[in-house]
Amino acid sequence: MEKRRPLIADLKRNALDDGPGIRTTVFFKGCPLSCTWCHNPECQEAGPEILFNPAECRNCGECLRACPHGAMPSGDPGRIDRKLCQSCGLCVEACPGRGRRMIGKFYPAEELARLLAQDLPFFKNSGGGVTFSGGEPTVFLDYLGDLARLLKEKGVHLNIETTGFFNFNKFAEKVLPFLDLIYFDLKFADSSLHSLFTGQPNAEILENFRGLVRQNSVPVLPRIPLIPEVTASRENLQNLARFLKELGIARLALLPYNPLWIPKSKNLGKNPEYRRESWLTAEEKREYLAIFNDFTLEREL
Ligand code: SF4
Ligand code: SF4
Repeated sequence: MEKRRPLIADLKRNALDDGPGIRTTVFFKGCPLSCTWCHNPECQEAGPEILFNPAECRNCGECLRACPHGAMPSGDPGRIDRKLCQSCGLCVEACPGRGRRMIGKFYPAEELARLLAQDLPFFKNSGGGVTFSGGEPTVFLDYLGDLARLLKEKGVHLNIETTGFFNFNKFAEKVLPFLDLIYFDLKFADSSLHSLFTGQPNAEILENFRGLVRQNSVPVLPRIPLIPEVTASRENLQNLARFLKELGIARLALLPYNPLWIPKSKNLGKNPEYRRESWLTAEEKREYLAIFNDFTLEREL
């Protein structure tokens, strides 16, 4: 994955949930984890992908005619054979509506820094800045380091949302010196559960978290996604609370489950196993909050 060019899935301006003030969030494509509930499925793969939106499709068939690789052999524009698709983008160009979208664009770091810094006055007035997200932005540590340095030279406040699965020394050398804040996701205390639901063990993640807390050079906010029947078991949440307490952490963010990722995942041709379609109930929220009542929450659940 590291040999690829970093692609950006989206630039979300006026973001209010990804750190203080008004921010622009940069969504990197590519992630070393494969969480079964991934709420940004368009950011899991590092390569470009075609997203089909049935609500915007006019059924005109232009995409079928434009495809040089026969990647929709059934004749249904919504059923792309991802093994045949070369992500050439010809179907996107041919589409007269917004039925298809190419996810993944490369920007040279200087160009992206210039683009992002255009909102500097809004960032300054609101106490905001830029947040690196994904996917996992640290997959591309050299590029991320260059981008962070260029933005810091322009005076932009920088936050990163990370899975914590990175090479600590390289992260500390390339990126950490330019960051103002770290949102660090913790999913499971138990490594075998972490492997089962994310595809990777958690030892390196927990060690990286400890390392950043010990270094204390940048504020680190732990964030726990509340995924019913996955991360949000009483035992797992209690174990995570204990892990944080032992490190002297008193503040955290709880991320409520958001089912809106499911249609996005389907539109990318994925077939997710985890499919809870409803939001957290008031009772679930009460139960989770009770486990963390000794902590200060970054925002309401
Ligand atoms: S991106 Fe290219 S190969 Fe893939 S479906 Fe579209 S036209 Fe066909
Ligand atoms: S070209 Fe666009 S609007 Fe026409 S069938 Fe394909 S996706 Fe739908």
